[in-house]
Amino acid sequence: MNQSPPSGPTIPLYNPQISGNEWKYVKECLDTAWVSSVGSFVTRFEQMMAHRADTEFAVATVNGTSALHVAMLAAGIQPEDEVLVSSLTFIASANAIRYANAWPVFVDAEPRHWQMDVELVEDFLANHCEQRSGELRNRRTGRRVSAIMPVHVLGHPVDMDPLLELAQRYGLTVVEDAAEGLGVTYKGRPAGSMSHVGCVSFNGNKLITTGAGGVVLTNDRELAARARHLTTQAKCDPNEYVHDEVGYNFRMCNVLAAIGCAQLEQLDDFIARKREQARQYAEQLSGIDGIAVFEVSPHAYCTHWLNTIRVSASHCGMTARELGRSLQSCGIQNRPLWQPMHRSPAHRQCEAVLSGVADQLYDECLSLPSSVGLTSEEVTLVCRTIRHFLTERRGRRAA
Ligand SMILES: *Cc1c(COP(=O)(O)O)cnc(C)c1O
Repeated sequence: MNQSPPSGPTIPLYNPQISGNEWKYVKECLDTAWVSSVGSFVTRFEQMMAHRADTEFAVATVNGTSALHVAMLAAGIQPEDEVLVSSLTFIASANAIRYANAWPVFVDAEPRHWQMDVELVEDFLANHCEQRSGELRNRRTGRRVSAIMPVHVLGHPVDMDPLLELAQRYGLTVVEDAAEGLGVTYKGRPAGSMSHVGCVSFNGNKLITTGAGGVVLTNDRELAARARHLTTQAKCDPNEYVHDEVGYNFRMCNVLAAIGCAQLEQLDDFIARKREQARQYAEQLSGIDGIAVFEVSPHAYCTHWLNTIRVSASHCGMTARELGRSLQSCGIQNRPLWQPMHRSPAHRQCEAVLSGVADQLYDECLSLPSSVGLTSEEVTLVCRTIRHFLTERRGRRAA
């Protein structure tokens, strides 16, 4: 029996959801000509973000990458320092470390929730580093190890308590990449607020968007002031053009902050919809042999930023990428996870602490349509289509 796959209009991987006061607030900017990097929406957005993330300070930036870049500098990461960072992440995390002229040391993922493996961090610090005149040094490279950048990937937190304990024991700064972690909590604490400094992204494919944007979050007054200074060209006088170092033009503009305010107002609604969507995916996919859905830690409040499944090629008779191409042919957009940073040609000279998990996830994972506005009918169509292709393949193998 040869059935054709279920079909419908294209289902995107991730579309922004513009359904609140975005127009109204942007119109206010245009009507008053307050469009640039000074304006009431920037201040309002920063206050709303700080409140939401439960930090004292928030500094809005042009994007998440620049927020990470500035966070590295403001946190005092020095050139030639080493920073432990998740290998399974979007490349911006590693790039931000290089922009500060420091070196990433890539840490593999743990197999259950796919986040930075804290046991590998501990092993590296205990067995590959040594204290030398009050500083932690990587024995092999001789460089100072000064920070850890845990990345909360896919809307789920890293296991932060043991990580923070290690950071304290070894005197390391922690910079959270919470670009994908807005609304996520770990034991009730918001992602981006648990360490010295955290960063969130408001890119178009993130949970809320400003088109492009980011924020630096911290409870450290000096760090916040330094981040603000660096993002405004290190200008030290409100009137005169006097700059005390080489800064950056990284401030978010008022128009985008206006969109951000409107988006933040809807965040709880967005998260509720995302969690319901993940529940539906799990319910409809969990019975399929060879497909594993994402497992949430009991410590986590997960936003399921991208609903990502793991495809066992031996059980399914097809790889994740083959399944991905089949879904794509029916208009269902999907993506593999990021090439792990220890494989990236952009960072090929860097050290890595590996267990093989990130490589496996890169081979086997597939992110499915996850827009806030995705309907339950669309979730059902995606799941039926996956089932269709796997059944068809199994039929062909049996024949
Ligand atoms: C999106 C993202 C960033 C970068 O944010 P941009 O706003 O796109 O610059 C950094 N880290 C991670 C993990 C991301 O997913």
